[in-house]
Amino acid sequence: MPPTVVVRHLSKRYGATEAVRDVSFAVGAGEIFGLLGPNGAGKTTTLECLTGLRDADTGELEVCGLDVRRQPLAAKARIGVALQTSSLPAKITPREALRLFGSFYGNPVAPAALLERFALVDKADAYFDTLSGGQQQRLSLALAFVNRPGLVVLDEPTSGLDPSARRELHGEIARMKQDGHTVLLSTHDLAEAEVLCDRIAILVGGRIVVVGPPRELIARSSARQTVTLVSAPPLGRELLAQLPGVEDLHCAEGTARFSTAQAPATLAALTALLQAQQAEVIDLQVRKASLEDVYLGLTQGGADDRSKPA
Ligand code: ADP
Repeated sequence: MPPTVVVRHLSKRYGATEAVRDVSFAVGAGEIFGLLGPNGAGKTTTLECLTGLRDADTGELEVCGLDVRRQPLAAKARIGVALQTSSLPAKITPREALRLFGSFYGNPVAPAALLERFALVDKADAYFDTLSGGQQQRLSLALAFVNRPGLVVLDEPTSGLDPSARRELHGEIARMKQDGHTVLLSTHDLAEAEVLCDRIAILVGGRIVVVGPPRELIARSSARQTVTLVSAPPLGRELLAQLPGVEDLHCAEGTARFSTAQAPATLAALTALLQAQQAEVIDLQVRKASLEDVYLGLTQGGADDRSKPA
């Protein structure tokens, strides 16, 4: 099956700011793809160019086989975008909003079906400003489905929600995938990306620095383990430094921390050392890199370098 989204060499500038530079990625049919990155990384600009809300400077953009830059109206008709909730008027009701959005399209989904699908039947005729954050966000999702989209685009769908509303929304997004929809979302939330996304792209300073399945990125970027040891008595720094594979060793207040790319050998030698020193283990933790470690490793110090020459 051809990909639902193709972005090739997308670049966009605002005056002197290069918001997006030479970004390329593709999203397969039925995939949930996440754009991650710090504030100002270019996530929103990428989504806005792809959905035809902003003109790209250069690059090719395709959605459902349509050229977004040459056939903007046809492409937009295939995309459902979850608007930021604040852009709806306070005194509109979910039923009215769904009817209004539906009136822009030839073959819209009936409001009743979307109210049912997104658990808004009880709030169908309540003013928007009386809905909870989670209900407002569910209405945003419902609006994105009015035009039977081939691609659903969600810009920071869970920002500002409490943990239970966030969980509920994760359930909704997972259900979209089960129903065969293709979803492109942006998020700051690494745990969210790890749970929801089949693949992610991490953007830093307008460029994609890495693309792949979250698990694979974690494995690829760091085969290292982080070891934290508290023992009585504490092992001396010079003894620990001699163990095979030990790097980045820090010893302070009885706690030793180091990383190793050869965990089995390091831990075997550590066990022997503890026995030889007759030291008792109080705490020993061995941790693999998380998506957060990957993200921080890639984004630290990189977000503000777009004004420097490439
Ligand atoms: P993100 O969504 O990752 O936070 P954005 O795409 O919003 O990133 O922003 C990328 C860069 O472009 C930032 O430096 C931001 O300040 C700048 N930018 C975004 N929108 C505009 C605009 N309308 N005018 C000028 N600069 C903008």
